[in-house]
Amino acid sequence: MTEKKLRIVLMGPQGSGKGTQAQLLGDYYHLPYISTGDMFRQAVKEQTELGKKIKDLLDKGELVPDELTNALVAERLSQPDCQAGFILDGFPRNLSQAEFLLDNFDIDFVFEIDISDDEAVKRISGRRVCDCGMTYHIIYNPPQKEGICDRCGGQLKVRSDDQEEAVRRRLQIYHEQTAKMIPFFQTKGIFYHINGEQPIEAVNKDIVKIITEHGFDKN
Ligand code: ADP
Ligand code: AMP
Repeated sequence: MTEKKLRIVLMGPQGSGKGTQAQLLGDYYHLPYISTGDMFRQAVKEQTELGKKIKDLLDKGELVPDELTNALVAERLSQPDCQAGFILDGFPRNLSQAEFLLDNFDIDFVFEIDISDDEAVKRISGRRVCDCGMTYHIIYNPPQKEGICDRCGGQLKVRSDDQEEAVRRRLQIYHEQTAKMIPFFQTKGIFYHINGEQPIEAVNKDIVKIITEHGFDKN
């Protein structure tokens, strides 16, 4: 556990490695990893009221409305396990969500993990995920046993929205809406650009180096 609160936002195009890095950072700093995408997929799977409302949006790669997303995040970040800090992946995704977040919570670092659209498409085509939240790649980050999660032994799957059309739409939304948050975070002095086109360990090292330079330790 770090002594200071450590509140991190990971942003970057689909496939840039946000989930992969969030898992590593969460394990390293003992902080909860919060992915709005995972929370929404869980709601769809459990066919909750929210899940029924958002299923089509997820399948098409469209954003869930801000009111629903902001409320879900605010509720999650208010839980006791987030008091020492958290790692947010997939939120905020537009300026209005970014303003909502900073109006209601303190954030120490926003890391943009940057990759080209070509690399994003390549990565997403090989992505395999487990219900426990772990992410693999059939070539770049394979599980020890094909199709099986190293952590929980679960069956790995292709995400239902990792289809060409939805991937293209998510990349378009990233460039049109999500990347527009960057100047806002820069003015707050919390924004850091990370080269995502390096091996997973090198990306992780770059992020940890910046966190350490700012006086956040891992006990
Ligand atoms: P995001 O959460 O940003 O959509 P993921 O963490 O799910 O991205 O990563 C997308 C895919 O790329 C996964 O299959 C993952 O194993 C792989 N991946 C993540 N980081 C890297 C990297 N630095 N180099 C190569 N492949 C990576
Ligand atoms: P992700 O797992 O981050 O790629 O998100 C998967 C899908 O969940 C997105 O394509 C959106 O439909 C939805 N989603 C996730 N996070 C958000 C958010 N912050 N705002 C709106 N929709 C979101």
